[in-house]
Amino acid sequence: MLFINKFLKRNRPFLFCLLISANYIHAQRLEVSNNKTTSSSPNVIIILVDDLGYNDVGFNGCKDIPTPNIDNIAFQGVKFTNAYVSYAVCGPSRAGLITGRYQDRFGFSRNPLFAPNDPNMGLSLKEETLAEALKNAHYKSVALGKWHLGAHESLRPLKRGFNDFYGFLSGGHQYFPELWTLNNEYEVKEQFDAYKTKLLRNNERIKEKEYLTDALSREAINYIEKYKDEPFFMYLAYNAPHTPLQATEKYLSRFPDITNTKRKTYAAMVSAVDDGVGKILDKLEALNLDDNTIIFFLSDNGGPEKVNASDNGVLRGGKGDVFEGGIHVPFAMKWPAKIPKGITYDSAITSLDIFSTVIAQSSIPIIPKNKLDGVDLIPYLTGEQAGIPHDFLFWRKFDQNIFACRSLTGDKIVVNKDIPMLFNINQDISESNNLIKNENDIYKNLLNQYKNWNNNMINPVFEGLGNDAEYNQKNPNRFKRPINNQ
Ligand code: CA
Repeated sequence: MLFINKFLKRNRPFLFCLLISANYIHAQRLEVSNNKTTSSSPNVIIILVDDLGYNDVGFNGCKDIPTPNIDNIAFQGVKFTNAYVSYAVCGPSRAGLITGRYQDRFGFSRNPLFAPNDPNMGLSLKEETLAEALKNAHYKSVALGKWHLGAHESLRPLKRGFNDFYGFLSGGHQYFPELWTLNNEYEVKEQFDAYKTKLLRNNERIKEKEYLTDALSREAINYIEKYKDEPFFMYLAYNAPHTPLQATEKYLSRFPDITNTKRKTYAAMVSAVDDGVGKILDKLEALNLDDNTIIFFLSDNGGPEKVNASDNGVLRGGKGDVFEGGIHVPFAMKWPAKIPKGITYDSAITSLDIFSTVIAQSSIPIIPKNKLDGVDLIPYLTGEQAGIPHDFLFWRKFDQNIFACRSLTGDKIVVNKDIPMLFNINQDISESNNLIKNENDIYKNLLNQYKNWNNNMINPVFEGLGNDAEYNQKNPNRFKRPINNQ
């Protein structure tokens, strides 16, 4: 007792300080935890690139195009080796991603035409976008780049849950500002004229001076700054490296050893995206947001190898195919607060999982309006959930009468009109060995699975890119400014 008294006496000032600091630390922690209760919903950034080949990122083994920043997403999080999109071309794939549902459920089974006067040419208003769902949890949402889900006023990003939009409405765009010669959608005279319109900021046509990919990266950083104090969702849809193949000298000069002009320009376009990704990662770090921001990186479909000189590696086919080359995409994700770094995840997942994954992490519960087809991937990545996310995945090309179905064991049927094929992706990633004669029971089972799924899908609800001429005939005022909008 005497010893304790002596100790207290001698160390009073020190103990006093200790007590004060302990209280201070306690108070600080309370403040931190209070902040966490009010704002722990993660920020979400989806970086969607366009027509990128499976093999054209460093994390999938690309040798001639360095993508150190994109690779960082995979290295700091997870690389998915069997990630799929729900369609093999742009529009339907995006409709699936943004709704978390097979786009065939609501008839978005074709690439839409650019038709600014047609309220049915795009994503049905009965569908809920991820931005709309996140509004329930007070997220701020930004769409950047390619929209392609409807050019009619009622279908544009600001009407679909986004607070801000910077980009263009069509399925592609010219990359150099001097080529944006049309002041608005009513100066468009034919489908691909839409590539030449001036960019939109929200509802205003604006004058942009930068190379398109650089402009989108700049905007991404500015909007991160704008919404740094609240949970935000950024849908950053670069149109690179979709055609037209156009790049600036800054990026072209990085590839003196690539002699094929097409591949060189493609490489430069991918490199520009990679620079943008680097700036985004840096910005998040500078604002101390990187820990609680989920980033997804993926391509909307496989590479059209002959068109843009992309490379799908060993995968069969490319954009437009339900062979792996059309639907099996580069896909990485990071979320340092929850997902350990350096994971390679081999079970099949789909872009439809993004919606389910994101809404499940909100600190304010979100009940989706419609039935979702994806799953929350996080428990699978942390090991909390055993098993495999999907028993079956499905693809349907309605107009061509082509479909595919893949099982959790890697068995996959591809039916091209009346030609049935059966592969096992786990053993034959290149789909070179048609097993149809030997494994008919597996084929029949997958065919039944597909038929059951297809019974819940509907026919396309609008004319697609392939019906441009017919659509023009039926809609002679396709690009005319409506009389009440002069
Ligand atoms: Ca695409």
